[in-house]
Formats: sequence, structure tokens, C-alpha cells
Amino acid sequence: MADYIYTMEIRLTPDQMKGVNLVQDVARVAGITLYLTGGAIRDIISGFTIRDLDFTVQGNPLKLQKEFERAGAQLAGHDDDVRTLFLVLPGNVRAEIGMAHTEHYEKVGKPPVVAPASIQEDLRRRDFTVNAMALSLNEGSRGLLLDPFNGVADIEAKVLRILHNYSFVEDPSRLIRATRFAARFHWPLEERTQQRYESAKENKYIDHISRSAIGHEIAQLAHEDDPLSVVRALEKEDWLKVLHPHWTTAKMDTNGLGQLMKTRQQLVDLGYTVDPSPAVMHFLTAKLADKDISDLRRQIPRKDLIEAWRDLENHAKELAKRLTGKEAATPSRTWNLLSAARSEMVLFLAVTARHQTVAQKIKNFLTKWRDVQKRIPLPEMTELLITPQLPEYPKIARDVFMLLLDGKLRSHTETLKFLKPFAPPPPPPPPPPRRGRGPKAAAVVAPTEAAPGKKGDVAKGKGKAKDKAAAVAAPQMAAPVAKPEAKAKPEVKAKPQVKAKPEARSKPAKASTPKPAKHPTKPAAKHPAKKAAPKKVKTKKVKARKR
Ligand code: ATP
Repeated sequence: MADYIYTMEIRLTPDQMKGVNLVQDVARVAGITLYLTGGAIRDIISGFTIRDLDFTVQGNPLKLQKEFERAGAQLAGHDDDVRTLFLVLPGNVRAEIGMAHTEHYEKVGKPPVVAPASIQEDLRRRDFTVNAMALSLNEGSRGLLLDPFNGVADIEAKVLRILHNYSFVEDPSRLIRATRFAARFHWPLEERTQQRYESAKENKYIDHISRSAIGHEIAQLAHEDDPLSVVRALEKEDWLKVLHPHWTTAKMDTNGLGQLMKTRQQLVDLGYTVDPSPAVMHFLTAKLADKDISDLRRQIPRKDLIEAWRDLENHAKELAKRLTGKEAATPSRTWNLLSAARSEMVLFLAVTARHQTVAQKIKNFLTKWRDVQKRIPLPEMTELLITPQLPEYPKIARDVFMLLLDGKLRSHTETLKFLKPFAPPPPPPPPPPRRGRGPKAAAVVAPTEAAPGKKGDVAKGKGKAKDKAAAVAAPQMAAPVAKPEAKAKPEVKAKPQVKAKPEARSKPAKASTPKPAKHPTKPAAKHPAKKAAPKKVKTKKVKARKR
């Protein structure tokens, strides 16, 4: 039997997983039954990107708004008709918490009658089999997958199948959703579903689509990984004009959109998490009249998307202005400015900046200056014991990077010269073992006892012990370069002594091994200059239930 909790844990991003835990905790405390549902389950099982988290609770989630906010979620909207909360969870994770409900369609074109229901009943009102699954997040049944329509099999078969013959009649927005999912996943409609689709199209059921469903579908476009192919598919099927009568691909900036998605990938590859949705909406509506854009915005249910899209150009202008001012007078200042800016702004400006200086600075930030990071001499820093264990390490590493960026450290030698004064003194030798009786104890004690006597020799560079120690310590302990006293390490002196008694040899040598040598390679991975640059923000998406 498949372990869906395990699959969920490995497929979700760490922020999404934290989001699941947050929602689970709130639901548990409130004593409310919780399921992960819809697209999240489909994407976890199919392997596609998990764009957002859809939860369904048996109860009214609107009552839990305060609890979610206290736990760190932000409210991005709500739909009172179907009792759904739209949340942004920490790490910019979009989530929707909906009430399990039935929808009873009494008349074509009229909104359904909504009633609270069990999760099993709720799954029956869903659009496609692959979206009609729920994963229990409740004690006792956690990990149980409810799949009454065999959605897993349809994921494996890669087909979109409606749950019953009246699906498109009841809710014609499912026609648009069918086209959108087919374009996104490249999954065809199952044969009977295709027939129903054609017939619904012919009979113009789409004329009965609700306004809220339109708003929901508009917003969904903003979160597509390849929005252009989806809008082209919608246009081909005549659905784009359903979303807005003046909307065509000719009114979009398709080049800008292509550039945006390419740059977004570049940012992702650099380690940023960036939500392109406001910028996607900007390019999708680039040539529409202001009034049409306002119409589109008014219908979107999530206010976070509307605001971010509306403010995009002004925020980008502000950043562009700062990039031409004193604040960005040097590469290091520009780096700091762009590192602190929201990745969404950097993305948008990277694609839209007209000012040569601004465009060049962003280009450097994304490309050339990354190479400067590679010039930070991490191995030598380790040898100097300048490692992440030092409290001042982040500052030192950052200062080197800034100086390198500004061309103030022009060579490797200059860089090392700058670094050496920051090398900490080597760790003190371990305390001598306690004196004991008998020959064995004497042998153990001997090395450390002998150490002071030998110190002079070693420090002066005399004797075999010194040569041996240099050979052993050199790869990890170049610290002596800056700190001569490091040469007089106890284990260095210990070795000749121990030689006489093989069984005792290993003990003193081990006891005196200097600690820093044990973590010689880690700093490279933890380097703050690397960390400082790409900071992760999570993708945003907007969603709302319709009707
Ligand atoms: P996406 O990856 O685009 O977010 P999704 O499946 O999560 O896909 P949403 O629009 O977020 O799509 O809806 C969440 C879930 O709600 C769907 O998976 C589906 O189960 C259900 N749903 C949404 N819209 C409808 C609809 N018009 N009819 C029936 N069920 C719907």
C-alpha cells in the first residue's frame, strides 16, 4: 500500500510542509477534521509542481480565521458562499481552507445550493477524478487516501475524466478548467468526457458561467508555469473571451512573458523563490485598456494578487530610481540593495528596465557578481580557522566579498593578507591526563609530560617530531601560517614518545588532535556570502472557489 504521507513529505517544499503542519495544528486544537484535497493531492501523486495547498475541513473554517492568523497565516480573502478562507502561510505558501460541502444545482445557470457535508460527499461535487481525492490529516487515519473515483488510476493513465455526465452542464467553468489542465499536463480528455465537452460547447453552456468562477479562472492563469501555452489553448477553444470579451493573445506582451519566465528560472536556479504571478498578469494584459484591466482585477477573489499586480510598476520604478542613486554607487552597495529587494521586483525590473544602468546592474547581480563569490578563498579560510564556528565569521566572509566586489582586493595574496589578522588562536592543548601508577599509566602520561620539554625543539623547528607534525597537520591546519604558536601542538610532541610503546601510542595522539581539524570542509557549504544572496521567498498563487 502506498505511503501517501511519505510521498507528501518528500514532494512538498519545506515551507509547504510547515504549512501543512500549521493547518493541522490549528485544526487539531479546534477539534475539526482536516483533509488535504484537490490539486495538491493530484500534484503530489503525479509529480507535477505543487502550486498551492487545498484543505477541506468538516466544519466551518471561517470561524478559525483568528486561530490561523495567530499561527502566522495571513488572510488573502474569503468566500462566504462556500465558506472558504484564502490564506498565505509563512514562506509565501498559498493555501485554501474550504468547508466540505455539497452543491445542488436546481436550475441551469443558477448558482448551486450549498450545504455542509462529509468529506465523502464533498468529493462527489468535484470537477475531475484526478481532483476528487482527499488525504486524511487526522489522528487515527492520517495518511488514508480517499479516492472514490479512482483518480490515482486516471493519473497513471494521464487522462481527465469528469465524475458524471452532467458535470459541464452543472458548472460550465469546468470546460475552461478542462482546457487549462489539458494544456498544462498534456493530458487528453477521456473519450466520454470529450464527447460531453463538445456537446456542452455546442450548446453554449458557457453562457451560464458564474462571475465568481470567471474571477477564479482569471487568477489561476497567473500561476501557470507556462501561461502562454495555456492562454493560447483557451483562445483556441474560445474561452479567453469568456474571461473578458476584449482579451486576446494579441493584447498580451508575449515576448515579455517569455522573457519573464526565462528570468524567473534563472532566479530559481540561483536559489531564489520568486512568485511571478503579478508580473504574469502584467504581461498577459499589457495591451488591454485600463478599464478592461480594472474589470479583470475586480473579479479576482484574492486581494493579495490584485494588490501585488496593481503596485508592481510603481514599486519597480522606485527600485530603479534607487539603483541609479547613491545607494547603488558601488557594486557592493548595489549588491546589498538588490539582495534586500523583493525577488519579485528584481524579476520584474530585470525584464522591464529601460534605463541602461539599471539593466546592467541587475544583469551583474544575476551573473557576473556571482563569480566574484567564487574568489572567496574558502580553503585558505578553513586553514586559518576562519570557519562558520566563529561568531564573527559571517561578517568576515561578507567583508571579503564586498571588498572583492568593489575591486579592493585585487589578488589572492591581498585577500589572504586581509584575512590573516582574523585567524583565531589555535585551541589550547587538552589538559594532561592524571598521573597514575604502574607502567601503562606512565606511558599514557609520558607524551603530555614530555610536551613542555619538547616544545622548544618543535617551535625552533628541531627534530623529527616537528617534520611529522607538519606533514600530518598541513592539509587541515595552515593556521600556523599566521600563528606560529600553533606549531607547538601537543600531539606533535607526543609522537616520538609514544613510539616506544605501541599500545599506548594511539591514546595520546588522539587526545591531542586539535579540534578545528575535524571540520575542515564545511565552511564552503555554509558560506554566508553565498547564503546572503539568494533568499527564498515562496511562490504565490491566487485562488478561490467559484459560484
Ligand atoms: P491548480 O493546480 O490550478 O491550483 P487545483 O485543482 O488545485 O489546480 P483549484 O481551482 O485550486 O484547482 O481548485 C481546488 C480544487 O477544488 C480542485 O482540485 C477541485 O477538486 C475543486 N474545484 C475547483 N473548481 C471546481 C469546479 N468548478 N467544479 C468542481 N470542483 C472544483
